[in-house]
Amino acid sequence: MSWEMVIGLEVHLQLATQSKIFSGSATTFGAEPNTQANAVDLAMPGMLPVLNRKAVRYAAMFGLAIDAEVGRRSVFDRKNYFYPDLPKGYQISQFAEPIVGRGRFAFRLEDGRLQEIGITRAHLEEDAGKSLHEDFHGMTGVDLNRAGTPLLEIVTDPDFRSSEEAVAFLKALHSLVTYLGISDGNMAEGSMRCDVNLSLRPAGTTELGTRTEIKNVNSFRFVEKAIHRERARQEDLLEDGGSVVQETRLYDADRDETRSMRSKEVANDYRYFPEPDLLPVILTEADIDALREALPELPLDRRQRFREDFGLSDYDAGVLTDERAIADFFEGTHAVCEDAKLAANWVQGELLGALNAADMSIAASPVTPRQLGDLILRIKDGSISGKIAKEVFEAIWNGEGDADEIIEARGLKQVSDSGALEAMVDKVISENPDQVAQYRAADPAKRKKLSGFFVGQIMKASKGQANPKMVNELLLKQLDNED
Ligand code: ADP
Ligand code: MG
Repeated sequence: MSWEMVIGLEVHLQLATQSKIFSGSATTFGAEPNTQANAVDLAMPGMLPVLNRKAVRYAAMFGLAIDAEVGRRSVFDRKNYFYPDLPKGYQISQFAEPIVGRGRFAFRLEDGRLQEIGITRAHLEEDAGKSLHEDFHGMTGVDLNRAGTPLLEIVTDPDFRSSEEAVAFLKALHSLVTYLGISDGNMAEGSMRCDVNLSLRPAGTTELGTRTEIKNVNSFRFVEKAIHRERARQEDLLEDGGSVVQETRLYDADRDETRSMRSKEVANDYRYFPEPDLLPVILTEADIDALREALPELPLDRRQRFREDFGLSDYDAGVLTDERAIADFFEGTHAVCEDAKLAANWVQGELLGALNAADMSIAASPVTPRQLGDLILRIKDGSISGKIAKEVFEAIWNGEGDADEIIEARGLKQVSDSGALEAMVDKVISENPDQVAQYRAADPAKRKKLSGFFVGQIMKASKGQANPKMVNELLLKQLDNED
């Protein structure tokens, strides 16, 4: 039998507020345990939550950016469950009236095709604390620094049919939320975590099969691997005539397998009810208009503009607009050198290559857009060749100065003086009579290839600084002149 896979995602996005969603404690990652947890986060009796305005704004911005319904009124609820790292005994979340309702999300697949999936809802909630099992022998520690960190939980419709689609969506979502500046998107620190709901059904049928939910997968690669593993597991079960049990599973990356955590709680186990300590959140039309006004240009729009205004290929435009900081860097470079093709090549090639090799983000780049733009100008005006420019780039990267200073200090200026070049051509011709004879005896079709030898000698002798175009012209003039 052939099976169709169906996937729906729930993404927990940490919002980039400085303080928590209901208290004034800081949200900075990596602090000593329990140094960022105050009486509200510790659930001391009588403490009252105070809603963080920025968290509400960020959630609404997300809704507006994907053209979803943004609730003019939304309500917080208590989701009741017991866990050691949840001292209140309930999580404040949103249930019946979330801040973001139905929407659509468009994104591009790896091959550039446009895809659209449904967003079921997105709601605000607080994160729980962390149980630390490793640091205390025979005991469990509880760190409440993360308790109360604002999360936006984004729930998709079961619209994905492959791991490629799911991962492309997550990448596009990551790009969108970092463009919006509503999350730092740092997956290694858990700023974006994903639950994967997956089921199979016989190909060609429409009814959904029983699903499992794989919790808290925190990298694109693990999402892909977890999907492959879980699909294979379910397929084996179904092929053997068994059935899938609805349950929560976890993905163990070390063993590359999914494992059962607990059977799935039904929703009403949580006894949701409206949070009595918080008023409903009301957004006026003026609030919404102001937020819409403040939205930046979004990734897909920017990609299209890069294609149209700069004449870039869809692929180049995609790479350059994936991350807002890269797109800004490209535009900054282009503003200086006014050559889109060269700027695109240099940003994608040398710059991203060097950043990648050094495991650095573009924000930390030692080369600025102006410096790269200046370097490209020197290629354009013939001062240096593309090859020498790579050497100059490396020197700029190492902090040796701007392009002009380095070209000057290292004497890299391209030799375009025809007198000097002619002398070099004369020299190579008189020193290699055999090759000259061979060239002149060859038929014109083969000559081009044979002339490469002479160009190579001259470039070598000039340490790459001879203007290759002029060398070629002068050389052919001499070689083809057989008198
Ligand atoms: P819960 O609230 O119990 O987690 P929901 O019905 O809200 O469950 O769905 C959660 C996620 O699971 C959504 O992303 C939804 O698209 C997805 N989902 C629901 N049913 C299925 C299914 N049969 N197969 C795959 N995904 C599903
Ligand atoms: Mg769920």
